[in-house]
Amino acid sequence: MALSGIQIYKLLPQTNCKECGFPTCLAFAMKLAAKQVELAACPYVTETSKVQLAESAAPPIRLVTLKAGNFEVKAGNEVVLFRHDKTFYNRPGIFIRIYDDQSLADIQVKVSTADAYAVNYVGMDLTLDGFAIASRAGNPQSFATAVNAVRQSSHKPIILMSRNVDIMTAGLSALNNETPLIYGADATNWEAFTGLANQYKAPLGVLAPDLDTLADLTEKIKSKGVDDMVLDPGGRELGSGLALGTQIRRLAVKKNFRALGYPVISFPGDAGDVGLEAIRAAQALAKYAGYIVLDTFSPDLVYPLLVLRQNIYTDPQKPIQVQPGIYEINAPQPTDPVLVTTNFSITYFSVANEVEGSGLPAWLLVTDAEGMSVLTAWAAGKFDAERIAKAVKSFNIADKVSRKRIVLPGHVAVLSGELESELPDWEIRVGPREAVDLPSFMKQVL
Ligand code: SF4
Repeated sequence: MALSGIQIYKLLPQTNCKECGFPTCLAFAMKLAAKQVELAACPYVTETSKVQLAESAAPPIRLVTLKAGNFEVKAGNEVVLFRHDKTFYNRPGIFIRIYDDQSLADIQVKVSTADAYAVNYVGMDLTLDGFAIASRAGNPQSFATAVNAVRQSSHKPIILMSRNVDIMTAGLSALNNETPLIYGADATNWEAFTGLANQYKAPLGVLAPDLDTLADLTEKIKSKGVDDMVLDPGGRELGSGLALGTQIRRLAVKKNFRALGYPVISFPGDAGDVGLEAIRAAQALAKYAGYIVLDTFSPDLVYPLLVLRQNIYTDPQKPIQVQPGIYEINAPQPTDPVLVTTNFSITYFSVANEVEGSGLPAWLLVTDAEGMSVLTAWAAGKFDAERIAKAVKSFNIADKVSRKRIVLPGHVAVLSGELESELPDWEIRVGPREAVDLPSFMKQVL
């Protein structure tokens, strides 16, 4: 039973020391009751109170981890409905499904291609997370053979899919020292599958035709000692998938309904149509899947999904940043110009990619603007002449160039006069407003 804010307050030190970031213990207690902070933020809670507060401190959606070697895919631990309320923590794992009646050659080609696929997006390598192996042949040997074939081509985590206990046992036996998802337990097989989850210490995928049955099933499974579960509420249509995913998230986060407080698995690949698969997968990323199983592997489908996922699961209060410093583009010489920008990743990569693509050499000075874009940082007072001059000096750019030319982004042309005062021995130029116009500016003006 979840504790109220007042009940939690009585278990806190009540010293109002503010170290948790809140002015009083009561304010912290209220946030803890609302699942908007973690108990660990207060360093002074006694061990006895920690035990009593464990239920309230536990996230409303249980953290479930699939593991294989050095790879881990975590889902759950979310505490809000909307990312602007706080942030989403664990990016949904995106898996590619193969079937055990496919030829081994087909399985290995699909798995090895998908395993190697990576997208470099604003300096980060985005990749797929693992593979789902589904039984369709209907016999344990085929399933175990398919598992072995996947393991020969990838070391990433695995979801095993069968509702037959003998087939699932064969799949589990083919794996060594890892934590796959055992999918799936239903109203007919849950006792046998619960035994497997306990034996292999692996999370259990649970499926049911409606939320009431699903909640009953998770309670029964939990009473047999399985804590880690992943929910499949059905909902293979766009509307029903959205409704069920939202209901589960709301019940878990707003009502603290523990029977549905687990990550959800989604199967957009069941659509049987690549266009619909893409739309369903995008919807599942936004609301509110923890694991997503695709049938199609193609860069056209996967690239936008990986980028969308990255954007949704970036903390809105912490913009993606690059390290401030001086970056060399196309092997610049001492006579080449110094371009200035901020350390917001998208701004940096827009500028760097345009200049790099043009083949023109330049020094790119990235200033610390707390991860904001040029105009936002200027408006917030984080990108001004003083900061730019400080960066020029702290990164010793004068030692790298013989011709002291610095190019301001066109959006902050207003800074040119002040920058001349800050850097009197530098030639200050105002560049274009948009990164795309930099190459022609560099060719024609510099
Ligand atoms: S850190 Fe702990 S003791 Fe200090 S104000 Fe916060 S809740 Fe109270």
